[in-house]
Amino acid sequence: MRAFNHTNAKSLAEAQTALAGGKTVLIAGGTDLIGTLKDNILPSYPETVINIKTVPNLDYIKEEGGTLKIGATTRLADIAGSAAIQSKYTALAQAASRVATPHVRDMGTIAGNIAQLHRCWYFRKPENRFDCIRKGGSTCFAMMGDNRYHSIFGAQNGCLAVHPSDTAPALIALNAKVITNKRTVDAENFFEVKKPGNTVLAADEIIREIQIPTPPAGAKSSFLKFAIRKSIDFPIVNCAVMVGGGNARICLNAVAPKPYRATKAEAAIAGKPVNEANAAAAGEAAIADASSFPEAAQFKKQIAKTLVKRALLAAV
Ligand SMILES: Cc1cc2nc3c(=O)[nH]c(=O)nc-3n(C[C@H](O)[C@H](O)[C@H](O)COP(=O)(O)OP(=O)(O)OC[C@H]3O[C@@H](n4cnc5c(N)ncnc54)[C@H](O)[C@@H]3O)c2cc1C
Ligand code: SF4
Repeated sequence: MRAFNHTNAKSLAEAQTALAGGKTVLIAGGTDLIGTLKDNILPSYPETVINIKTVPNLDYIKEEGGTLKIGATTRLADIAGSAAIQSKYTALAQAASRVATPHVRDMGTIAGNIAQLHRCWYFRKPENRFDCIRKGGSTCFAMMGDNRYHSIFGAQNGCLAVHPSDTAPALIALNAKVITNKRTVDAENFFEVKKPGNTVLAADEIIREIQIPTPPAGAKSSFLKFAIRKSIDFPIVNCAVMVGGGNARICLNAVAPKPYRATKAEAAIAGKPVNEANAAAAGEAAIADASSFPEAAQFKKQIAKTLVKRALLAAV
């Protein structure tokens, strides 16, 4: 493994200055970053790792003026265990509780969860063996290779990899905002397919807080995940919904390069009673725009429509 310098940031300003200087990367829980550093998967690497967990007062869950506020370094375990989040922002507590294992949830943070890199096995192959499009190369090896867990909603910027986060669809369904040191971004617009990252964040931009408005009167939310193993497994497909009181927000993940807001499913269920037939129709609508490529990943369609249906029924 390469050697890296390590700095414990004492403030966001200090972290931002260090990031602006270049050849640096933030570390929170390290559960994603350390793997990418150890396995040497990228063509170029930072020289310094800046620890953001040492910034004081960045780890909190509080409700203020009708808004839930979660500090960037709040651990997934704390989100999963929060009584306030369980009762009012249920999909997020359920999503956080389904990430990986207790150990990862004890280390991993909410900011790291939405800023993590994707899991495409060509991309993650140690020693940078596949210099693919997301690393600046010219080939997507998954197009012709093993793509059984890849996107069923087409490629973006030439890449078929899916976004792996469990909390991202819950944040989008709950209409959350991501607050950085520079701006406020709707969670829905936070994700972008870059080389190699998955967010709109600039090189010196830092997630400071997540804000979620109190769900509208009568609305409830839920999250469901399908994975091969019950524990320590990334989603094959996951789904978060917020429904009721005339509202419907439905987001799938692990089906496309970015979290996929299922607007056709939302239109199919909005204003209607959530019953077996209507929820099933919303499930069908959710995959209306899915692609017939890759053939090996077609099984995800059945899972996606079933999760949409079950998540809707679970929310009422
Ligand atoms: C075995 C294993 C299983 C996993 N299973 C799942 C799973 O089932 N579901 C799932 O969703 N995830 C899973 N993960 C992925 C992920 O590591 C965790 O979900 C975790 O939330 C990442 O948070 P972290 O604080 O450890 O991030 P880190 O590894 O510290 O950072 C990840 C990325 O986020 C950036 N970052 C961190 N904080 C900030 C900030 N404040 N502002 C801007 N950028 C920031 C870092 O620079 C880095 O690029 C798994 C990981 C492992 C190792
Ligand atoms: S799917 Fe994306 S990450 Fe995977 S090989 Fe293709 S370009 Fe690279």
